[in-house]
Amino acid sequence: MTWRATALTLFPDMFPGPLGQSLAGRALEQGLWSVEARNLRDHGIGRHRVVDDTPFGGGAGMVMRPDVVSAAIRDVGRAGRPLVYPTPRGRPLRQDDVRRYAAGPGLVLLCGRYEGIDERVLEAEQVEQVSIGDYILSGGEMAALVLLDSCVRLIPGVMGSEASGTEESFSDGLLEYPHYTKPASWEGRDVPDILLSGHHAAIAGWRQTESETATRMRRPDLWAAHLARTGQDTGGPVSLAADPERLH
Ligand code: SAH
Repeated sequence: MTWRATALTLFPDMFPGPLGQSLAGRALEQGLWSVEARNLRDHGIGRHRVVDDTPFGGGAGMVMRPDVVSAAIRDVGRAGRPLVYPTPRGRPLRQDDVRRYAAGPGLVLLCGRYEGIDERVLEAEQVEQVSIGDYILSGGEMAALVLLDSCVRLIPGVMGSEASGTEESFSDGLLEYPHYTKPASWEGRDVPDILLSGHHAAIAGWRQTESETATRMRRPDLWAAHLARTGQDTGGPVSLAADPERLH
């Protein structure tokens, strides 16, 4: 069964874009997933196919009209797929959401432009609002592609053996440990000895400590949640081996 994405957008040529390359592109060719981009302009008003208007209450920019956007939404066979609007006003996208989306039949993605979409259509159509980070993009298409990329790599068969997804950042609420490959010595920098030792338990312990240190230093929000989950109420384990200077 194919995982199906539909994008509602003013710029259908932006799809599949970068997702036509590499693993996602191969999976697309193999029919493991599909993406259809539909032009919101097709539902625009009048001869000029107008999709936006000025905001009530005043202010800069334009707002996408609810009648236009709802007509586009209602024209799509949702077939049980969540309807997601990427917006900085949404709740932050997390790997748990990605797993849920990837396990379902697919997604319908509503791509905003201008100042965004009239609030009433978001209420009326039970739209899930999701942010990909605390910064402003010029349109929802890039955010939709980010969301799709994160889902597609979890579809069975897309990534092969490395797709376990169980040892990645966020899989246990922590950032991942750092990676090293050959050469063992490069420009005077050596791979940590323990990784060359062959002691699997010691390596696992080192990686756990590195994960915890990186999370504590870079993501106090994730670290606090980790402490709450594991029932620790103080600073928690601090690595003696890890060099905090390395983290930036
Ligand atoms: N005026 C809005 C920003 C509009 S940006 C505000 O301040 O909240 C135009 C479109 O880009 C949005 O409708 C949304 O679809 C998309 N977009 C911008 N930043 C985004 C982000 N961080 N996450 C997801 N979508 C985003």
